[in-house]
Amino acid sequence: MGTTTAAPGLGARLYSAADWYDSESLLTQDERRVLARLRDFLDREAKPLLAEYWERGEFPEQLARPLIDLDLMEPAELTTDGPARGIYQGFRIFELARTDASLATWYTAQAGLFRTAVRVGASEQQQAEWMPKVIDFSLKGVFSLTEPESGSDIAGGLSTTARRQADGSWILDGAKRWIGGAATADVLAVFARDTADGQVKAFLVDRAAAGVTLEKISGKTSLRMMQNAHITLAGVRVPESMRLHNVNSFKDVAAMLRAMRSDVAWIATGIAAGAFEAALTYVNQRQQFGRSLGSFQLVQERLARMLGNVTGSLSLVVRLTEQQAKGIYRDEDSALAKMQTSLFMRDTVALAREVVGGNGITLATDVARFHADAEAVYSYEGTHEINALIIGRALTGESAFTR
Ligand SMILES: Cc1cc2nc3c(=O)[nH]c(=O)nc-3n(C[C@H](O)[C@H](O)[C@H](O)COP(=O)(O)OP(=O)(O)OC[C@H]3O[C@@H](n4cnc5c(N)ncnc54)[C@H](O)[C@@H]3O)c2cc1C
Repeated sequence: MGTTTAAPGLGARLYSAADWYDSESLLTQDERRVLARLRDFLDREAKPLLAEYWERGEFPEQLARPLIDLDLMEPAELTTDGPARGIYQGFRIFELARTDASLATWYTAQAGLFRTAVRVGASEQQQAEWMPKVIDFSLKGVFSLTEPESGSDIAGGLSTTARRQADGSWILDGAKRWIGGAATADVLAVFARDTADGQVKAFLVDRAAAGVTLEKISGKTSLRMMQNAHITLAGVRVPESMRLHNVNSFKDVAAMLRAMRSDVAWIATGIAAGAFEAALTYVNQRQQFGRSLGSFQLVQERLARMLGNVTGSLSLVVRLTEQQAKGIYRDEDSALAKMQTSLFMRDTVALAREVVGGNGITLATDVARFHADAEAVYSYEGTHEINALIIGRALTGESAFTR
């Protein structure tokens, strides 16, 4: 049993219970219209497919083109621009994630990760060439940073190498792990250590280039629809023109992570909202002892806690986004949002699963999918511990990282 909410007219609220303090009032009418368009698509086209594709461990590729055609990244009808669009972009992620975490992750791989890599890493000239194609998805890319032997310690541990050749091109060798969406991408944004100066550089590698091998990571119990790849790079030649010219050390990668981490905080917020909404619908319908589950005090206590978590998360991400719109980007700010919204998300999906009872472990209710998918989001884009250490360093001035 899913929760379906009809796309509202412009007078109505897009979000009722899940946006208790009416953060959506920060959106313009045009932005709300775009989000209503997305809602309508997700309800009609996506929701009926989710349980089946989750169980099969496949991405519903038939949704990709229509989702791109919704023109959500830089919608033509929006008059706001640049940072002023931050709240819209956040709610776009929220809307996707409250429907499905894999859909949100798939979209954000392009609109968040890859776009950020190009925005931060490419030269002006490269951006002029690539950015329009990133925005209309005619150049699909993924963010390939994590390695089999280096996750949390990637800054110091990154071991994929880039060797400059006499003709100016580069040879890449190494392996990347967990790379979301790689199998259907045109290019892989690969981070590699320059053997000459020891610094991290970035390259757009043709996914079909000689020496690139992709292997699907199967057997996942979380985000089953999202496809993640183990990538091997063996003597892959990349022209200098495909190197991101503004990435000259890991500091430039950290600037990308700072922006991307706030997107993931919006994903965690959306997952919590989706689980809460599904649980609320269920407990109001399900009867036990001749009354609805929602009429019992202990169930209401859990609903109140879930609402507190969702409201806390939404307040955090909205405020973070407002700060970033003013140009304030600090590692500890996005780390705090990612850490805390993930804690709220984990608590919320567990409470939602609990109040739905036995049905809460079947795909027939949306809560089971949210419950399982939350685990991947809890770990990616900075684990709880790593984000806590970033915050701890800002609070005390002492770095507790081992490197
Ligand atoms: C579904 C999914 C999608 C992903 N997509 C991408 C992608 O598209 N691109 C990409 O580059 N990466 C991606 N990742 C990788 C992700 O960012 C890493 O999984 C994450 O950074 C953690 O690395 P790890 O899994 O190697 O864990 P590890 O680094 O091995 O850590 C394991 C545990 O040890 C803890 N730990 C590590 N160091 C310390 C310390 N110093 N102090 C205390 N605790 C510590 C961690 O917090 C964690 O709990 C994805 C991962 C998943 C699961």
